Amino acid sequence: MASEAAQLRTRDGTLVPVTAEVARRSSSMRALRAGGLFVGGVLLGAAFIPVPGIHLIAPWLIPLLALFIALYVNRIVAMVGTVEGTCPSCDAAMSIDGGPVSDEALWLRCPSCRTPLEFLLEAGDD
Ligand SMILES: [Zn+2]
Repeated sequence: MASEAAQLRTRDGTLVPVTAEVARRSSSMRALRAGGLFVGGVLLGAAFIPVPGIHLIAPWLIPLLALFIALYVNRIVAMVGTVEGTCPSCDAAMSIDGGPVSDEALWLRCPSCRTPLEFLLEAGDD
């Protein structure tokens, strides 16, 4: 993971600079992962076709679940590791675990005062 400058935004709009470990995923890497997940799900579902009873559900349910997981994985543009900075609310030094960055907001909490902070990543070239 590379260390990048990012920002945290409080609910009242205050922006705080932080440093975050970020592993960005290119669109081709995301498509490859998502495609692999879906194909894996189809193959796994097909493997249950000879199994009595389970063959009624698994061959379509597993590929369907794999499709939803693949669509979610495809939306993750970056994985965020440790976020380091100073809490805008209680001024404590923070070291928080991040998470996946997609088109949805990634909210983190200050470990000492529990203030919710929205993680903002600079837009990549992808
Ligand atoms: Zn705090």
